[in-house]
Amino acid sequence: PKYVYLFGNGKADGDGSMKALLGGKGANLAEMARIGLPVPPGFTITTEVCTYYYAHKKTYPKDLEPQVKAGMAHIEKIMGTKFGDTRALPLLVSVRSGARDSMPGMMDTILNLGLNDQTVEALARATNNERFAWDCYRRFVQMYGDVVMGVQKRSGDDHEPFEQVIHQLKKERYGQDIDDTKLTVDDLKELVNRFKALIKERTGGKEFPQDPWKQLWGAIGAVFGSWMNDRAIVYRRKYNIPHDWGTAVNVQAMVYGNTGERSGSGVAFTRNPANGEKEFYGEFLINAQGEDVVAGIRTPLPVVELKKVLPEAYKELERIRNILEKHFKDVQDFEFTIQDGKVFMLQTRNGKRTALAALKFSIDMVKEKLIDWKTAILRNPADQFDQLLAPVFDAKAEKAAEVIATGLPAGPGAASGRIYLSWERAVAAAQKGEKVLLVRNETTPEDLRGMIAAEGILTAKGGVSSHAALVARQMGKVCVCGAGALQLDYEARTLTVNGRVFKEGDWLSINGTLGNVYAGQIPTAPSEIVQVLIQKTLDPKASKTYQMFKTLMDWCSKVTRLEVRTNADTPEQTENALAFGATGIGLCRTEHMFFEGNRIDAMREMILAETVEERKKALAKLLPYQKQDFIGIFKALRGYPATIRFLDPPLHEFLPHEEAAQEDLAAKMGVPVEKIRQRVKELHEFNPMLGFRGCRLGIVYPEISEMQARAVFEAAAEVQKQGIKVRPEIMIPLVGFKKELDLQVEVVHRVAAEVMKETGVKIQYLVGTMIEVPRGALTADEIAQTAQFFSFGTNDLTQTCLGMSRDDSATFLPTYTELEIVKRNPFATIDQTGVGQLMQIAVEKGRKTRPDIKLGICGEHGGDPDSVKFCHRIGLTYVSCSPFRVPVARLAAAQAAL
Ligand code: ADP
Ligand code: MG
Ligand code: MG
Repeated sequence: PKYVYLFGNGKADGDGSMKALLGGKGANLAEMARIGLPVPPGFTITTEVCTYYYAHKKTYPKDLEPQVKAGMAHIEKIMGTKFGDTRALPLLVSVRSGARDSMPGMMDTILNLGLNDQTVEALARATNNERFAWDCYRRFVQMYGDVVMGVQKRSGDDHEPFEQVIHQLKKERYGQDIDDTKLTVDDLKELVNRFKALIKERTGGKEFPQDPWKQLWGAIGAVFGSWMNDRAIVYRRKYNIPHDWGTAVNVQAMVYGNTGERSGSGVAFTRNPANGEKEFYGEFLINAQGEDVVAGIRTPLPVVELKKVLPEAYKELERIRNILEKHFKDVQDFEFTIQDGKVFMLQTRNGKRTALAALKFSIDMVKEKLIDWKTAILRNPADQFDQLLAPVFDAKAEKAAEVIATGLPAGPGAASGRIYLSWERAVAAAQKGEKVLLVRNETTPEDLRGMIAAEGILTAKGGVSSHAALVARQMGKVCVCGAGALQLDYEARTLTVNGRVFKEGDWLSINGTLGNVYAGQIPTAPSEIVQVLIQKTLDPKASKTYQMFKTLMDWCSKVTRLEVRTNADTPEQTENALAFGATGIGLCRTEHMFFEGNRIDAMREMILAETVEERKKALAKLLPYQKQDFIGIFKALRGYPATIRFLDPPLHEFLPHEEAAQEDLAAKMGVPVEKIRQRVKELHEFNPMLGFRGCRLGIVYPEISEMQARAVFEAAAEVQKQGIKVRPEIMIPLVGFKKELDLQVEVVHRVAAEVMKETGVKIQYLVGTMIEVPRGALTADEIAQTAQFFSFGTNDLTQTCLGMSRDDSATFLPTYTELEIVKRNPFATIDQTGVGQLMQIAVEKGRKTRPDIKLGICGEHGGDPDSVKFCHRIGLTYVSCSPFRVPVARLAAAQAAL
């Protein structure tokens, strides 16, 4: 089998479509070679070899070696140099990881491979640049020692071991920290010696290998090995990348950004990935190799500065920028190296972007006719779309706040939090419920957990494409980078700026759109879209963001089949959801209404009642309240339908459990406290989730359902008299037997007929059920004889299908996710194989009995993009989610239809 794919000289075995086999980097290197961009020649070892490697005790298929040899010969031929040449210019290569989806900085890359004590001399002679040759060699020994031989930071070390050696030498020889570019040939030679010694010391006597082929195979093994390192595993878990995908390995001829002042390395975006503006964005370092830029050790210059320094190279980059966008039809994030004025391309991929940038790119590219509007919909990642609704700083408060430093605006938005200087402490504080800002000199992949836990990330060093910036943008975290005025003391856990000291736990605020760092806490304000749609404090014409949002939402409406409704219990929530484009209520929980004001008293009276008569008396007190609530909601709905769920939770939730509260209630009701205690005891349940709740309440106490039905229909009649159409859909919860539903439906129909007769108003209504226990799903054909609609209550359906209590799962679910027993949290994303199968059965059986049955979902899953797409696939009529998730659900629903 073919394990090695060649590229170079305007040709390639592979192409951009082969990301699964060649990894993202390899596939796009091939694609760039094909379209004639200047790519150093090389080859890609496929991801299949990685899979083989892990399936066969870390060994390779036997066909691999000759193919790698042929690959090296291919590079030698194009370059006109020889690997391991000790006389003429030697061929050096990089060995680079490359998974299907990019995992920035998570895996390892080795540069300048092929150098040893002889080839370094040959390199020096051939280039007539001794300093350059020894700079490459010391970099190589350092990377090889770290990545392949495992000489890494031990717990307790403050610095990377090799950096510590460099630091020490600078101190000895110069008495201070100097820039790496200032190190002399002699310094570099000494560093190589000390590095070799360090490797020997730390590996129990192993020598740094001099044989280039041995180096090559060592590096290939290390790259495959890095697929299973801790941080790569954490990253994949966070982004749901399957562990069995594996990484490819790219071996590529080196080009050198460190030969002098006419060379350099950089990272650029074809457009601004933070705010979406159509401007060349990125940065570079003169006289540097690529990893210097990403590592964030030196702060680079904006790419447009190249215009002054190396104008020819800048022109070439502008040309490439254009070709990339025209060819890939999407914003590209690319890596380049300039060797003595000539530009080489080392990588390109679709640029990670903020939700705002994604929105702007997609709309602009439609205008530019690069893509059509349907593609534009797909270009907006649904799972980060709610960033657009995220709060910003209150404008006045921000103006009044004191700017203590500025940095680069690397991840837009506003964040306030208590500062922590280590990821461990940031995570610990966040777990205690604190709002946290993670503050570091620069971040490394090790800090990932802290970044996930933090509201925002602030670094003292590094640029807009440093690790911190990259990861922050992807996670939608607020981020300010390279705020040079900050002096961090990790030991003392303090941040000093202009003599002012901030301790861990102190508040700072950062604006990742402007790059400002403020002392103290600044109140946040709603996003422009929320100001326009919900608060109505901003004129729609004054907000470009809102206008783009509206354009996209209008496109979505054109293709969507799945309706998006909302979960709402109040007129205000209803109005908000409608403003975001919801077309009705999918779940109105009536019990929330009973907790307000003195309604709870009437509710408790009802629960404590001993006879039907008493109960009816208490219910009569509740009726006007509930009716008023429905009137408000129906009016807010302006003719859209409302699915109203009858009383669902266990009754004991309404009773007071504390002594004092029980005494209070007793006094209020004029009953002995003993009676209340007794009733609370009676209602106590071992397993409330599976106890006296749902339709079981209405079946034992039909008068409750009767009151609720009356409230609904009287309210409907009243609102309809005012000229607003009302479409109630009454939903009976927790049904597992057809008879349960029959009994409740009888009550509803009877009351409906009564109210219509009393008021003379004709009301169109439906009665249906929630499908939320497995028996309900499995007997859906019987239930559909009575039910006019089903709504999947996927919270309970997940609990009952998995036999897993949502509220008690925190003790074991993290372990389950870690061990990949469950791929995703089943309470956040529908477990499609299990719960999803029950849903499919119910859909099929329900339709068989009643072909036009209405189908919806009302669990938390209704706002989760993957679950929404699943609902589309199984043919539901609508999803329902909380008001602020409505835009996300609309986007996901439209994407599902494309
Ligand atoms: P990552 O996936 O972490 O970005 P890469 O494989 O892209 O790792 O390598 C990191 C950097 O090393 C690149 O951005 C590039 O600047 C530099 N690099 C990799 N291969 C070469 C090469 N053949 N010549 C010059 N620089 C290279
Ligand atoms: Mg890269
Ligand atoms: Mg339920």
